[in-house]
Amino acid sequence: MNVLVVNAGSSTLKYQLMDSDTREVFAKGNCERIGQDRGIFGHAEFGGEKVVEDALFPDHASAIDRVLKCLATVDVKIEGIGHRIVQGGWYFDDSALVTEDVLAKILEVAPLAPLHNYGEAAIIEHCMAAYPELPNVAVFDTSFHMSMAPVAYTYPLPRAVREKYHIRKYGAHGTSHRYEWMVAKQLLGDDCHRLLSCHLGNGASLCAIEDGVCRDTTMGLTPLDGLMMGTRCGSIDPATVCYLQREGGYTYDEVDEMMNKRSGLLAVSQISSDARDIRAGADEGDENCLLAFDMYAYKAMQQASAMIASMAGVDTITFTAGIGENDWTIRRAFCHCFEWLGVRVDDVRNQHAVGRGPQVISAAGSSVTVMVIPTDEEYMIAKDVERLTA
Ligand code: AMP
Repeated sequence: MNVLVVNAGSSTLKYQLMDSDTREVFAKGNCERIGQDRGIFGHAEFGGEKVVEDALFPDHASAIDRVLKCLATVDVKIEGIGHRIVQGGWYFDDSALVTEDVLAKILEVAPLAPLHNYGEAAIIEHCMAAYPELPNVAVFDTSFHMSMAPVAYTYPLPRAVREKYHIRKYGAHGTSHRYEWMVAKQLLGDDCHRLLSCHLGNGASLCAIEDGVCRDTTMGLTPLDGLMMGTRCGSIDPATVCYLQREGGYTYDEVDEMMNKRSGLLAVSQISSDARDIRAGADEGDENCLLAFDMYAYKAMQQASAMIASMAGVDTITFTAGIGENDWTIRRAFCHCFEWLGVRVDDVRNQHAVGRGPQVISAAGSSVTVMVIPTDEEYMIAKDVERLTA
């Protein structure tokens, strides 16, 4: 099936037109700086060079309009559209074929992810108007985590407040974690029951998956919680927010911006949010960069321990996303923290795992199989479109 996969962020839109069976990508590209004064449009076809142009995208609808017009000139008939939706709220424990009701629910839960859901809903509406005959499928970052038990997802706040504002752990990166489980299971079969999935990119989260079911995850009500990330602080004492507002005079917006955009690896390294820059700094002995890496691995290890405990053990660990797939030193540092559990990494395998598809990097005799599995959320979304329109 030829599926257009649309992945919109707060000011970006990435797209891929792909065959959900063969995984062939016919065209792909991106819109940058949506809602800002000078936008950028990039488009590539059939593995060719990406053509980049200046553009103006006042809103998400104008961005998808440009994409659809561009794709109309590609000699491939679109048969369905899959949309990554950041927040499915309390409604969706699976992807959904878009109807008026589904669209209304995406908007109803939008206050939980206002920078994402409104734009994503606008894109769906535009696609439905432009191609009324095509099915649209919403694939939620949160739905994989809806299988968590109340003990894992409930926040110990007053019940009336929780219920009124729908406060609970929703998690994120669900499509990526679901992909990790699918591939690990395909490759390891009965040896894979309790999987710790480590999605380590600019955004980062861990997920405890038992026989395909999410038991717990590190992101919470929003993607700010959990691990220390590129620019997000991850878990800190929540009273820090009140303290900054009370004593520092920071507004809600300033704290939000600080914790989402100016914290994490960027704040500790004082150089960059990009692991490659921090690695270069650490190699030159920069103490802030060394601390940033040590903290990253330490916090990941601590929270991974919690994930493992929630499954009462682990037999498989997978690494994915920009840092998880590419940075073998982070993988080594993380795995060394679990030597007490019998985790052993083969240094040669670990160093050569980059860019070669799914690879086992654990050593013979390791109590846990450790793998690098490059994520493919677009493929997962395309497969959901196929499944829900069959
Ligand atoms: P993602 O959000 O999955 O695209 O991951 C982005 C992050 O991956 C970047 O901020 C980099 O820190 C990291 N990254 C990408 N490539 C490499 C690499 N070759 N080595 C180390 N880190 C990398």
